[in-house]
Amino acid sequence: MTEQYEVVVVGGGAAGLSAALVLGRARRRTLVIDAGEPRNAPAAHMQGYLSRDGMPPAEFLAVGREEIARYGVELVQDRVVDVERGDDFTVTLADGRHVHARRLVVATGLEDELPNVPGVAERFGKDVLHCPYCHGWEVRDQAFGVLATTVLSVHQALMVSQWSKDVTFFLHEVAESDLSDDDLRRLAAAGVKVVPGEVAGLAIEDDRLKGVRLADGTEHAREVLFVAPRAVPQTGLLEKLGAEMQETPFGSYPTVDPTGLTSVPGVWAVGNAMGFSEQVINAAAGGYRAGAFINGELLFTDLDDTP
Ligand SMILES: Cc1cc2nc3c(=O)[nH]c(=O)nc-3n(C[C@H](O)[C@H](O)[C@H](O)COP(=O)(O)OP(=O)(O)OC[C@H]3O[C@@H](n4cnc5c(N)ncnc54)[C@H](O)[C@@H]3O)c2cc1C
Repeated sequence: MTEQYEVVVVGGGAAGLSAALVLGRARRRTLVIDAGEPRNAPAAHMQGYLSRDGMPPAEFLAVGREEIARYGVELVQDRVVDVERGDDFTVTLADGRHVHARRLVVATGLEDELPNVPGVAERFGKDVLHCPYCHGWEVRDQAFGVLATTVLSVHQALMVSQWSKDVTFFLHEVAESDLSDDDLRRLAAAGVKVVPGEVAGLAIEDDRLKGVRLADGTEHAREVLFVAPRAVPQTGLLEKLGAEMQETPFGSYPTVDPTGLTSVPGVWAVGNAMGFSEQVINAAAGGYRAGAFINGELLFTDLDDTP
């Protein structure tokens, strides 16, 4: 690792590695700094990525790291703890080292804050799931539960009914009176059973979910539980740089143009650090687009600065 790069990419998931691949192939001196905690690490398989459907997430990233190395991109496993903007960007790593970059790609992803119900964290990515597009096919027709944490969970209960006709909606933290007439009508039309009462825990047997236990002691046999984690976008560095942010029901994300450029000149945001709904294939596509634009932008900046 030297001190001066054309581009530093913070985060080495699908979004960051994809940006780095384009930049490396465009002969840009690029460094990826990655803390090594990709969001889908709890899942054994990555689904829905055309040509890579079912590949283990760790294998996908290992291939990506190999590919960027072919083009001279450097990767260091560490966490970026600070960034400052002057003539260029000064990036500080957790081990105290500093590197400088003309452009910055923030690809730091988001973290899932799971509902505080015993058993949920241990089973997440196995039979406690959040995303039917990621896992729905694999658990189709099984006995589903959906844990309500806000009224937005109604949407999740309706969506998962596309994958199983046996869905029980546990109201947990939502009062029955919070459901609108439209909610109740749609839940009934989808054949979703609504069960009021707080969920106290999960019944696990032989390393499999067997049921959902309510605080009143009753147990409902279920094979899969869908939950809605609170999304915590990893946007601290963007906020530090003064990037304009916008509130969404799924957290606060930077305002970006179609290439991922934030309101801070020279700083791009891609993947889940830019938006909640970026799946792996979208994250990779966003990284690619940003990488290509950064290369062009650097080229024309330098040409225009040439006397
Ligand atoms: C259980 C689960 C299963 C999923 N299954 C699928 C699926 O089957 N198909 C699908 O398309 N999507 C799936 N997803 C969604 C998928 O995880 C995201 O779409 C994808 O990870 C987004 O890629 P990313 O590059 O934006 O972020 P990430 O993959 O999360 O990568 C971000 C990287 O940045 C690093 N980082 C963060 N902060 C810093 C810092 N300050 N300094 C240095 N590095 C930092 C992190 O450690 C991480 O390595 C799943 C998600 C979960 C939770």
